[in-house]
Amino acid sequence: MIYRPVKCGGSGHASRLILHCEAVSLETLAERFGTPLYVYSANIIRERTRTFDAAFSKAPHTVCYSVKANSNLGILRLLAGMKCGFDVVSGGELERVLRVDRKLARRVVFSGVGKTPDEMQTALKANILLFNVESESELHSLAKCAARAKKTARIALRVNPDVPAETHPYIATGLHQHKFGVPIADAVRLYAQAAQAEHLNIAGVSVHIGSQITDVRPFAAAMERVAELVRKLRAQGHAITYVDAGGGLGIGYGDGEQGNFSRQAASYAEAVLAPLRGLDVHLLLEPGRCIVGPSGVLLTRVLYRKANNGKKFLVVDAAMNDLLRPSLYGAYHEIVPVCTSQSASRETVDVVGPICESGDFLARDRELPPAQEGDLLAILDTGAYGMALSSNYNTRPRPAEILVDRKSVKVIRRRESTQDLLRLES
Ligand SMILES: *Cc1c(COP(=O)(O)O)cnc(C)c1O
Repeated sequence: MIYRPVKCGGSGHASRLILHCEAVSLETLAERFGTPLYVYSANIIRERTRTFDAAFSKAPHTVCYSVKANSNLGILRLLAGMKCGFDVVSGGELERVLRVDRKLARRVVFSGVGKTPDEMQTALKANILLFNVESESELHSLAKCAARAKKTARIALRVNPDVPAETHPYIATGLHQHKFGVPIADAVRLYAQAAQAEHLNIAGVSVHIGSQITDVRPFAAAMERVAELVRKLRAQGHAITYVDAGGGLGIGYGDGEQGNFSRQAASYAEAVLAPLRGLDVHLLLEPGRCIVGPSGVLLTRVLYRKANNGKKFLVVDAAMNDLLRPSLYGAYHEIVPVCTSQSASRETVDVVGPICESGDFLARDRELPPAQEGDLLAILDTGAYGMALSSNYNTRPRPAEILVDRKSVKVIRRRESTQDLLRLES
């Protein structure tokens, strides 16, 4: 997202600075498609995918984009075109990938603690690359499903390495008290069990320690434990072809904190690859946020200004149902005006939505250039876990989504109408 001067109508020389996504003015998009509106940059997604992929160029690997970060078909199609695989965590996400192209199944890994027999059946039929199995019970359930379908399921156990990672408690997953994976100490016994099942094919070991992790050391610590397990399993005769390193690499959400992604990706790759040296495995990577997060903005218009006992509020037309991260995680998203005013003045405001919850805020005590009613604001870095976490709370139709590719503008999801929301009810 970049400010570009745009000539004002009439007066000839005067120009204003307007925020653009690639070559397209966000003011124009807001006028054309309304607000709130998600806008994504195709070239940011491409560039970050290439950078991430290049960081692992020394090792055989497949980038399996984590669909839950942003599951729009338009974005999946873009990534499929770049030879990405996909990490899915539900039958619905699997269907999205298959909708793009059924042949993508051979690059799909299926994670999640609560796969149902129906979901397993669909995944077996599609012949996905790998099931990341997260419990002993699931192992039995999958063995049964595979036998019934007369298919072989390639599996990895997702191990819980019990390493702490500094992130929000809701998105840390790698400690023994979390619901994810099997304790790494139980893994050897469970692999031995799996080896007995005729329709299970042991193919790898998988790990995922959480999300929005910016210090790469926990990734290295987890991978050291995985590498040790791979050696043990091979010594017992299991064929471990794949190591799935999961996702979780964080991004900067602050002012100008986007930093140098190729350096970040390189240091992440070093942390993951160093412990695996000499093991000759095919690495699977499941990045979500770091691929799509910085590609998106949520455009919103100021509806009202108000002050309660001196505390100032901007009531905007986007809300926690459109972007849940601030309410759910206390997450910080940079907010900037779409049209800059040259004034250096700032005011401290809460940016809040129309929903009937005090937890409905997009920013608290934020210093912003004074915004007037009708002004457009851009909430930055909302390409990941933005629309994907949205809901219809308060019977609010969800925003449209736009994919910009240089000058081209595509509606990749039309705005919901209230009729859309009522359709399923009697
Ligand atoms: C959420 C998730 C990811 C992606 O995490 P990011 O932080 O978006 O990179 C990858 N793998 C699994 C199993 C996940 O649950």
